[in-house]
Amino acid sequence: MTRQWITVLGATGSIGVSTLDVIARHADRYAVFALTGYSRMDVLHAQCLQHDPLFAVVADAAQADQLQARLQLAGVQTRVLHGCEALAEVAADQRVDVVMAAIVGAAGLPPTLAAVRVGKRVLLANKEALVMSGALFMQAVRDSGARLLPIDSEHNAIFQCMPSDYASGLGNVGVRRILLTASGGPFREMPLDELAHVTPAQACAHPNWSMGQKISVDSASMMNKGLELIEACWLFDARPEQVEVVVHPQSVVHSLVDYVDGSVLAQLGNPDMRTPIAHALAWPERIDSGVSALDLLLTARLDFQAPDPQRFPCLRLARQAFEAGGTACAILNAANEIAVQAFLEQRIGFTDIPVIIEHSLNCLSPVPVKELAQVMLADAQARECAQQWLASRA
Ligand code: NAD
Ligand code: MG
Repeated sequence: MTRQWITVLGATGSIGVSTLDVIARHADRYAVFALTGYSRMDVLHAQCLQHDPLFAVVADAAQADQLQARLQLAGVQTRVLHGCEALAEVAADQRVDVVMAAIVGAAGLPPTLAAVRVGKRVLLANKEALVMSGALFMQAVRDSGARLLPIDSEHNAIFQCMPSDYASGLGNVGVRRILLTASGGPFREMPLDELAHVTPAQACAHPNWSMGQKISVDSASMMNKGLELIEACWLFDARPEQVEVVVHPQSVVHSLVDYVDGSVLAQLGNPDMRTPIAHALAWPERIDSGVSALDLLLTARLDFQAPDPQRFPCLRLARQAFEAGGTACAILNAANEIAVQAFLEQRIGFTDIPVIIEHSLNCLSPVPVKELAQVMLADAQARECAQQWLASRA
């Protein structure tokens, strides 16, 4: 079997590390073309020693020189590049077969889109990229013939439950609803009046999943589910009213598809991202992911509840942004990124997050999107708007 060349964008993060864990189990199938990281240079260094990529990409020249020198000392041939253009180059290089898009936030959009535009097999973890640029992104997928495979556990589950000819482009015929499950995060049962005082450490302590800080806060506010609702509409060509969010605290049922004949198909598994990663890497084949078999007797119960709109206003804001269309989702996403960062820096309270997002959505009028520059402009304006809110409070 000829090995496939893979680029891992965001290799040093939670998804990046899980991806390399799966790849290491299948050295006969995958070879690493490039690894990228923005911080945690020790992790990137160790990854280069283990996986011997052709390229590593870091943020700036100083980081690049340092890492290059350390790798040379260790006798590793990896060439270290830096900057945004280098990210796009290692994502779109002619030699690359598969790109894992696992940078967090808007920073991942340009390299992910670069991979899509040249028709790669793109494993999409970076939901923010799709949320920001929805129509443009999906048009690029159709134009280039890229194979887009969802890594988000819910979307990977939905993909697995879609009609068998869905992947050949025959659409979602017969699908009535998509049931998007949500754990409810760490604050699902906390008294509402305590939410304003929660700390970043509490928000990042997710009951079921171990993830990066930004997505952990998004899970606590349920903006993660809002972004995923938008992601599901684009990926599966669904109307927002077809996507129903269901709180499922055990995180064992990763999502479900409801058909017009009353059949409901679900995908279950232990909450470990190596399952969707292995699925997307090998699809349509199946490979070992290192994840242990699901023990239903140990799980014992599967609970389902409706999400509380008062507790989780971000869900409503995300629906509103998707319905407004154009650049509204880019505004939503950018304001959320600024708000989450400010919360992590303890400059605002947890319940200020939706306030900042709503403020930015009200300040800026969405415009129809024809090109990426409009998305980037809306992103910049929304960041500015959110920063102004923060400054006015300081
Ligand atoms: P993380 O914070 O652990 O890792 C993020 C990666 O992106 C790191 O390698 C970091 O160095 C890199 N990065 C950060 N800022 C950058 C920038 N400005 N330029 C270039 N690189 C940058 O995040 P994560 O939890 O691995 O999540 C990554 C993406 O996957 C997110 O979009 C998240 O929503 C999505 N996702 C994650 C999980 C999960 O279980 N962790 C599940 C579903 C979806
Ligand atoms: Mg998810």
